[in-house]
This record gives sequence, C-alpha cells and structure tokens, in this order.
Amino acid sequence: MKAAPFSYVRPTRLGDVVAELVRADEDGGGKVIAGGQSLVPVLAMRLGRPATLVDITQVDELKQVGVVDGHLRVGAAVRQRRVERDHRGAVPLLSQALPWIGHREIRSRGTVCGSLAHADPSAELPAVARCLGATLDVAGPQGRRQISAEEFFSGAMTTTLGPTEVVTSVRMPLPREGEGFGFAEIARRHGDFALAGVAVRVRSRGGAVEEAAVATFGVSDRPRRRDLREELQGAVDRAGHDPDALARELGDAVAAMAEDVVTTGGDSHASPAYRRRLVRALGTRELARAYRSSLGRTAR
Ligand SMILES: Cc1cc2nc3c(=O)[nH]c(=O)nc-3n(C[C@H](O)[C@H](O)[C@H](O)COP(=O)(O)OP(=O)(O)OC[C@H]3O[C@@H](n4cnc5c(N)ncnc54)[C@H](O)[C@@H]3O)c2cc1C
Repeated sequence: MKAAPFSYVRPTRLGDVVAELVRADEDGGGKVIAGGQSLVPVLAMRLGRPATLVDITQVDELKQVGVVDGHLRVGAAVRQRRVERDHRGAVPLLSQALPWIGHREIRSRGTVCGSLAHADPSAELPAVARCLGATLDVAGPQGRRQISAEEFFSGAMTTTLGPTEVVTSVRMPLPREGEGFGFAEIARRHGDFALAGVAVRVRSRGGAVEEAAVATFGVSDRPRRRDLREELQGAVDRAGHDPDALARELGDAVAAMAEDVVTTGGDSHASPAYRRRLVRALGTRELARAYRSSLGRTAR
C-alpha cells in the first residue's frame, strides 16, 4: 500500500513547528516526523492518515545532545546511532539498550525521542526512561512543560502529549556513585521487537541496597516499573555477593513481580506464561548483575 496524500513542512524554528501543528490540528490533523522509522510504515499501511507532516529535523535547537545539570539531554532530532556512537557509557543503561533496537540502519535514522513518543510497548527506550526516572521536555501553544516518564506513557502507542505539542528533548540522569545497571531482552531474531525484556538500576552503599528498580517491556501495554529494594536486600543477606546464588534467592520475588506486570495476552509468538518465565529469568540475572556492578561504581 501507499500512504494517503499529505502535506509536508520542514520548519527551522521550534516556534514554527508548534505553529504548524496548531494549523494542522484545525485542518485534518498533523503529525511530527523525526526519523520516520515508525511513522512511515504506519502511513504506508494507512493505519494513520494525518493531513500534514511536520518534519523537525532541521531545527537547530533539537539537534543538540550533551550533559546538562547531571543529565544527558538528548534533543528530539538526535538519531539513536549518534548517541550510541558519540556518548557511549554516559548513561550506561541507555548504552546497553541502544544496540538492541532494530539494526544499525534503523538506528541511523530513528531518534531517541521519536521512540519515546511512539510508545511501542515492546520498545527498549521507554523502559530505560521509566527505569531511570527520565524527564521529557515538551513545547506547545501554551509554552513549555516537563513530563516525567512515569506520567508520559499512558497506554499502547499512547502518551499524555497533546496533538499540538512536540517533545523537544529527554533528560536521562548520569550514573551516581554506587549505581549498577542491567539490561536484557529475548527476541526471536536479533533486531526484532522483544518478546520480553528488563531494564534494571540498583544503588548500594557498603553492600546495603538503597534502591532497586526493574522496568519491563514487551509484556504489557506500557513499560512497568517495580521497586524490589527489600527483596534484593533480603537475597543479599541470604546469598552474599555470588551472582548465581543471588539470582537463585531472587527467583520467587521476581516471579511474583512477573505475575503482576505481564498483562499482554498470548499471541503467535509467546503465551503469557512464557513471557512470565522470561521476565523471571532475565529479571533475576540482571538484578544480580546490577547489584554486583553497583559495588564497584565510584562517582564520575
Ligand atoms: C525494521 C524496523 C525494526 C525496528 N526495531 C525496533 C526495535 O527492535 N526496538 C524499537 O524500540 N524500535 C524499533 N524500530 C522503531 C525505531 O526505533 C524508530 O526509530 C522509533 O520507534 C521511532 O523513532 P523515529 O525518530 O523514527 O520516529 P518517527 O517514525 O518519525 O515517529 C514515530 C511517532 O512518534 C511521533 N514523534 C516523533 N518524534 C516526536 C517528537 N519529538 N514529538 C512528538 N511526537 C514525535 C511521530 O509523530 C510518530 O507518531 C524498528 C523500526 C523498523 C523500521
């Protein structure tokens, strides 16, 4: 199939992006296009028929990426591959997740913020944003506002962004002393969307667990985050620092979490029961790994 006819505009100033979205909203509806890696297939299959596409890739302000106030700020026109290549390790969880997204060719066009705005429940970056407590910067006709990742994702392919608003950047916190991270997913082939995946952040001090957050993806309508601090501390108390023993001790707690977060019905790829087993296997392993790496991380 081919896309239905649409108008295409490519402003160079953020104010004009918003003005174009407002104009389009009054005349058949508009959509931001960034990398086009998700939107173009949607148009080609006629799952969406916006009258106007507003291309944001020529707005200088949106091309910026860098460290600001303890966060990596990634502008909305910044491609995934640029962050993967030029900012490797700045936000360790982001660096761990990026290579799992599609293939390099996809990441060379797709943007970090576009993946968040698209809000695919099986996508990696929304789970990373939830796990880290990232903040999205947004501009619209009423001015600018910030939305926490927790508030941003409201359902499958659905966010709390208004039709005339645009994400301008995302801010992800840099690692702090005593933090460790884990990330893993299972897909049928490398580059496919995940059947299930986890993103994990642990913070410890002198061996004591201060925070343990697990975000899951591919298993419900949006990324889910759960706090397993007490469970991880209990497992450490019983098993010590050996990762295999720790993972074994965590099994029941992560299985209980999987019961809670896996809400996707079965499909041709995996049953809910299989997805729960994946979350349990990946969650225990990555929690143990994140705890181990938290013991060695000093402040930057
Ligand atoms: C073959 C293939 C495999 C893929 N595999 C994966 C995968 O394994 N994991 C994964 O996560 N993704 C995967 N993707 C999707 C890819 O990561 C996309 O790049 C990403 O989801 C969307 O980013 P984009 O910049 O291309 O957004 P676009 O396609 O341009 O836009 C996507 C949606 O977000 C909106 N949008 C984009 N930017 C903004 C903004 N700044 N403000 C407001 N709204 C905005 C658009 O209006 C649109 O609704 C795959 C894509 C392809 C084609």
